Amino acid sequence: MSFKVNDMAYAYSANDTIKDKGEYGGVVTSIMKYLLEENIVDGILAVEKGWDLYDAVPTLITDPEELIKSAGSLHCGTLNLAKILTKYLDGARDMKLAITCKPCDAMTIRELIRKGKIIEDNVILIGVNCGGTMAPVDTIKMIKKVYNMDPSEIIKEEIVKGQLVMTSTDGSEKRIKIDYLEEKGLGGRRENCRRCSLKIPTNADLALGNWGVTGDLKGKATFVDVCSKKGAEIFNKVVDDGLVKTVEAKSQGIEIRQNIVNTMLNQSKKQKEKDFEKTTGDIIDVLKIYKDELSKCIKCYGCREACPLCYCEDCCLESEGPEWIPGGYTPAAPFFHLTRMVHMADTCTNCGQCSEVCPSEIPVSKIWATVNEKIKETFNYYSGRDNKGVPLPFSEYENTTTRRAK
Ligand code: FAD
Ligand code: SF4
Repeated sequence: MSFKVNDMAYAYSANDTIKDKGEYGGVVTSIMKYLLEENIVDGILAVEKGWDLYDAVPTLITDPEELIKSAGSLHCGTLNLAKILTKYLDGARDMKLAITCKPCDAMTIRELIRKGKIIEDNVILIGVNCGGTMAPVDTIKMIKKVYNMDPSEIIKEEIVKGQLVMTSTDGSEKRIKIDYLEEKGLGGRRENCRRCSLKIPTNADLALGNWGVTGDLKGKATFVDVCSKKGAEIFNKVVDDGLVKTVEAKSQGIEIRQNIVNTMLNQSKKQKEKDFEKTTGDIIDVLKIYKDELSKCIKCYGCREACPLCYCEDCCLESEGPEWIPGGYTPAAPFFHLTRMVHMADTCTNCGQCSEVCPSEIPVSKIWATVNEKIKETFNYYSGRDNKGVPLPFSEYENTTTRRAK
């Protein structure tokens, strides 16, 4: 069978070592190995396990034999690989790269392609579905306090049928409802992930995940969604060369997968309603509502550094003197954030990196996600999705008045 855009299949690696080490059949690792061996790409930007299960390390792999070390899914891997791609790999200007990406990675990469910061022809996006990631330190604390388990003995942490399941080295398991953990503030997914409205990265070239794999292959194979012509070409190659085996996706599996996604999207919608309930007005209203929170800002520049969409070569917020003197060298809190806002909020992908680093615990990600939601409503621009023909709200949009004036 020749795969085309929108085709789906169950798949697993034909290489037993990769199949065993891979999370669900090792398809991603097999595809990456093929791309390197055939010199289709110069490198793979992936994630590998560091010190322990909670330590996800971004890695650039150029030797196909090394790829096996990146097999497996790290659910405490809260990285945004788009930043690494632009900051350290020059937006794939000099090398062709394949990147494993969660939906938010893929969305951010799409925005950076749009802004000319990443070269589209030089990247292949191998997407993985994502129901949400968990912050490493919070997760370690939750395992100790709530699960009464030793975090160093956990070999797998995964959401199964609405429960967060911890599996220990001795095979024992503990399950707690994810809703309960999150509602009670005991742990669970990062707050931005709870709002996320893209669970299957259909904006990548291929999207892979375990949802919807049924029957004997459950747990042993991956569901593959072909999302672009580039993705179809690559997937056909690995299948034709016998590197990946496929089985037709069962209609019941397709339905189950869709139901899971719908349930998760419903939860995200509710979370958004809760997060945005205070802000019924316009963008300025959002800033007014959060002005007290924003005044806690110590101008550490952490959010600017972490933001994958903050991309200016010379930042106008840079200061020669101490940042902490009020009204001294950097703009006062609301203007500091207002400046950041006009540079990134229209394309914000709710990746959560800013909140992750803020020492003042300002809910920066929630603030920008709220602003972005208002921008979506006004400009019909959906960050990270297919926005062909839709102008970038803050830099390309021309209203009728300016058009008439020309
Ligand atoms: P493998 O061959 O094992 O390759 C896995 C690839 O994922 C590797 O290239 C590795 O670099 C990369 N990776 C590992 N951790 C991360 C990370 N934190 N960020 C970016 N890349 C990473 N599928 C679902 O259907 N439902 C889910 O809810 C779901 N949640 C996921 C959450 C995370 C954080 C991740 C990484 C994956 C998730 N998946 C989910 C996808 C699933 O776990 C498998 O990755 C997918 O089925 C492919 O399996 P595989 O054996 O082919 O992958
Ligand atoms: Fe201010 Fe927090 Fe950003 Fe630091 S990370 S500049 S404290 S908002």
